[in-house]
Amino acid sequence: MNVLTLYIVPSYHYGPSMMIYVIFIGFALLSWIIQKVLQSKFKKYSKIPMPGGMTGKEVAEMMLRENGINDVTVQHTGGQLTDHYNPATKIVNLSDDVYQSCSIAAAAVAAHECGHAVQHAKAYAFLTMRSKLVPVVSFASQWMQWVLLAGIIFLQSFPQLLLAGIVLFALTTLFSFITLPVEINASRRAVAWLSNTGITDRYTYPMATDALRWAAYTYVVAALSSLATLVYYILIFLGGRSRN
Ligand SMILES: [Zn+2]
Repeated sequence: MNVLTLYIVPSYHYGPSMMIYVIFIGFALLSWIIQKVLQSKFKKYSKIPMPGGMTGKEVAEMMLRENGINDVTVQHTGGQLTDHYNPATKIVNLSDDVYQSCSIAAAAVAAHECGHAVQHAKAYAFLTMRSKLVPVVSFASQWMQWVLLAGIIFLQSFPQLLLAGIVLFALTTLFSFITLPVEINASRRAVAWLSNTGITDRYTYPMATDALRWAAYTYVVAALSSLATLVYYILIFLGGRSRN
């Protein structure tokens, strides 16, 4: 949401009602709460050691091996919460807190990232779709705020501009929704493997599941608030059109 857009739109006295602003504030609040809970959960589970004493790196390497994946490497990457799998380089990147840590949080994150590597190896449809959308979405994100802003300013004289902005924004919304099954499926693969191999026990399994579940909620809120923003721009477009 562009702050300038929020400022300019009400001054036109048309478009979305106050209700949409209430929804935005609700989403912002919800997103903040989920981030806080997620941080506290990870902090807690980072202090609880895994029964076998395996590091995140060892968990990742074992999960890849057991899934028959031999062409993916596990690497250390700097920063916090920077863990990700790169399909282009076939590298599972694990952050400081995960790579060398023997905690439940580290095992859960490491297994989740390997879940993406397994998706890649099995050509999981949503991951393939997501990867194909990456260049399109990076183009859309680069231009959409400016096109939307100009579109709102010139709505009366040149409505096609706002429509183009809406199309660009819709691509990013679609991307957020395709991300959902990718993330949820990677976590499912992670916890199923952690449980089946006996790396987690009755005591630690619910904790690994809990940490990954809260991580998934952040993606759900991001997708829903992206959808709300898309609706907001569509309402501005329709509001401006109906004045003609
Ligand atoms: Zn993920």
